[in-house]
Amino acid sequence: MGLGTGNRGGSLTIESGDAEPSELQTFEISDSAIEAQESLAVDHQASLTSPAMIEAVIQSVQPVESVDPSVAETIAGVIGQSVAAGGGSSMGFAEMSLSGRTKENRTRLAKENGGSEESELAVEIALAYLAEHQLNDGSWSMMYGMSCNGECEPSCSGKDPYRYAATGLALLCFLGAGKTPDDEQYGTLVSKGIYFLQQSLRTKSDSAYWVGTEASAQMYEHGIATLALCEAYQMTQAKELKDSCQLAINFIVLSQYKDGGWDYHPGTPGDLSIAGWQVMALKSAVAAKLVVPQQTIRAVDQFLDKTRSGEFMFKYRSAKPSKSMTAIGVLLQIFRSKSKDARAIEKGIEYLAKQEPSRSDMYYDYYATQAMFQYGGPLWKNWNYKMRDYLVRTQTPNGHMRGSWWFDDDHSNKIGGRFYGTCMACLILEVYYRYLPVYGADADEFRF
Ligand SMILES: [Zn+2]
Repeated sequence: MGLGTGNRGGSLTIESGDAEPSELQTFEISDSAIEAQESLAVDHQASLTSPAMIEAVIQSVQPVESVDPSVAETIAGVIGQSVAAGGGSSMGFAEMSLSGRTKENRTRLAKENGGSEESELAVEIALAYLAEHQLNDGSWSMMYGMSCNGECEPSCSGKDPYRYAATGLALLCFLGAGKTPDDEQYGTLVSKGIYFLQQSLRTKSDSAYWVGTEASAQMYEHGIATLALCEAYQMTQAKELKDSCQLAINFIVLSQYKDGGWDYHPGTPGDLSIAGWQVMALKSAVAAKLVVPQQTIRAVDQFLDKTRSGEFMFKYRSAKPSKSMTAIGVLLQIFRSKSKDARAIEKGIEYLAKQEPSRSDMYYDYYATQAMFQYGGPLWKNWNYKMRDYLVRTQTPNGHMRGSWWFDDDHSNKIGGRFYGTCMACLILEVYYRYLPVYGADADEFRF
């Protein structure tokens, strides 16, 4: 029954979906993508301050190698239809509907679920800000020297411009507000972003990835970009995106460590923070009817158990339990179709409610707000008043940086800079319609 994942140079055996043990089919991916990607060296760390440098980096992005269109289908066929069908109880993932994002639904749900006219306006001007900072090739960068000659500050302080994570986050903001390639205002911009991600995927064997181990935050970037691409596919049903999404998902499957988690790079034990993005990407893939081995999802459960601390909290690596990890843990449990009455979820929600929204840690706020929203009820309402109005109040109101956010005094903000803070705040304010409540709560639970 075992599944060896993330072993460098090893092979991966994927069990077939819901089959009885005696009927399990296995599929060998022998040419490890993890090993192969280490041999690729693309310079993403150059100083990106001049137009010539930007051009050089754009040209250094390798075109996607010819994808064998049969790859995804082959894996699909071998792994089994119960998995390929996606959604539903067989996968143990809660239904993930993006139907709240359509124009009509968005307006209605924003109103019913706790948004305000001010919060919706904040989303609109955040999108306008992001639109202003898209690069010519369709990507975004956390390094402002590339997009506005450093007029915005602070730029990211990490050593990479994190272009794939930046593009993924920006696209998630547009897609979360229902802006697809059909959108009158932002359609072209969204298409260019999607195209950039798709074209910069590097395909090797049965999987594809954006950045190799030379990048400092490889799996963060990969998880975020994959989530964005899968949401784009789920919303557009554009056939030409299907293989790219499947190959990127396969890379997540291949990169999972044997304990069920993910690290900055494949092959070593990771943490719940990095796992959060991978699981969200897998969940989106299931909803888009892509192939995700059940084994991978079961291993996620094991990882949740491993990182649980006490009855309801979660911890980062070997550290003490923290509110950020608990927020991610609670949300992942909810999305794994755990009952709303499960004691660990109830207690986790009560704990988060007591902590209240952070004024600087947008990473915590992003997950905690989603968990509180999914849970609904009075605790959510109280949380929402504070979170929503704090973000509306702190958005930069005018000038070149109008529509953006900067939160000092937080590790992630310092690394990702103003761009990161802006995307996270925008996504938080889209919570009312971005993912519908998985418990199917009726509107009374949310109505204000
Ligand atoms: Zn700027």
